Amino acid sequence: MKMDVEVTIGSEKPNTLAKLNPTALLTLSLHDPQQAACEVMRFAAKYPIAAVVAVDDQVTVAAAAIGHALSLRQNSVESVLAAGNKHRMRHLFQQAGVPSPSFQLCRLDDNAEIVAGQLRYPCVVKPLSLSGSRGVIRVDNEREFVRAVGRLARILQKESGMRNAECGGALEDTDSSCRSARQGDQSSSAMSHFLVEDFIGGPEVALEGLLSRGQLRVLALFDKPDPLDGPFFEETIYVTPSHLPTFVQEQITRCTSDAVRALGLSEGPIHAELRLGTDGPSVIEVNARSIGGQCSRMLKFGTGISLEELIIRHALDGDLESHVRERQPAGVMMIPIPRAGQLSEVHGLHDAESVDGIERVTISSYVGQKMVPLPEGSIYLGFIIARTTSVEAVEAALRKSHAKLRFVIEPLEFNKKPVNTERWNE
Ligand code: ADP
Ligand code: CA
Repeated sequence: MKMDVEVTIGSEKPNTLAKLNPTALLTLSLHDPQQAACEVMRFAAKYPIAAVVAVDDQVTVAAAAIGHALSLRQNSVESVLAAGNKHRMRHLFQQAGVPSPSFQLCRLDDNAEIVAGQLRYPCVVKPLSLSGSRGVIRVDNEREFVRAVGRLARILQKESGMRNAECGGALEDTDSSCRSARQGDQSSSAMSHFLVEDFIGGPEVALEGLLSRGQLRVLALFDKPDPLDGPFFEETIYVTPSHLPTFVQEQITRCTSDAVRALGLSEGPIHAELRLGTDGPSVIEVNARSIGGQCSRMLKFGTGISLEELIIRHALDGDLESHVRERQPAGVMMIPIPRAGQLSEVHGLHDAESVDGIERVTISSYVGQKMVPLPEGSIYLGFIIARTTSVEAVEAALRKSHAKLRFVIEPLEFNKKPVNTERWNE
């Protein structure tokens, strides 16, 4: 790293190298934020900590609890919990008058046929606390609604099994004197309930921002040129700067600021998604983290510093002077999974990287990996990053590069038999 900063990485699983370098690697009960805060307090008594940075959705609550225990400038635990629960978020937006889709909270064990008859279509069925569009399904009629709820129930059942297994293992050696109420209530309701929202049509944008004492600084506004009409909402291309007129960009910034205030977020990175419906911007969600995957690589600030560096500098010095994004148009394609199966071959990487304007192509999936498309899956095949003279050229380069890639995905063994194909076409 170019910065002169000592870093300690906290992770749930013990690292075998931790003993060799105890200040660099710290095992934390991240699933139990209060417990993690106690563990960090003990560590910080010996090795003082100047800032805490969460790297993904799973650890934002723990980072907030740790920051609070260390009296650092951090989001409140409550605000981060709200950003991680789509029902709580919708409720706070509604209370504060932030434009966002109308919603209804439903239980998975409600009678779906009866609920279906009471809804307005098209609408969106979604889980309360997954991410990456997992389990988010647009439905246009009663029959689709009933099927979507069944499908979401299976996704949540599997997720719940996995979370229980992870917590069970990690909890074995926790210090009970330090353990306090877990996020149990919130996560159990997230497994038994779901949201139904009005479907908001129109283009979608994403806003990458940084908060200092509740003030939002926009780092980048992205257009998503591929239509997101469902039934599943796979992310593909992001390009920046946005082509939208200045007054629309200002509306988007205002809505995002209002949304951030409604949630109570105050410090650090945010990633917001908004739809531009017929009545203006509507906030889909605000996450208390930066853009995911390898997408941040398309952003550079000031004299070429990365988004991660900017976030760390900001965490260390909240009054950091403004860093303007480099003006050169840039974009990313999250390479979608075309079908379910097992990845067996990848071709065309060199050609894809040779396209004018392409900075890098990364295949993040590995040969042999099981490919699960949305709404069940949670990974991408990889990422293509482009940087060139215009956003149109960026988008064209991403598409051209993608077209050069060929992925061979074999059906999984059990999937080869012509049984119950209807289940896979659901
Ligand atoms: P996740 O946290 O899994 O990303 P989101 O709530 O952000 O879930 O939904 C994922 C995507 O689904 C959004 O980016 C958007 O394209 C689409 N979507 C979600 N809710 C709506 C809605 N009410 N109207 C239109 N599109 C929606
Ligand atoms: Ca989202």
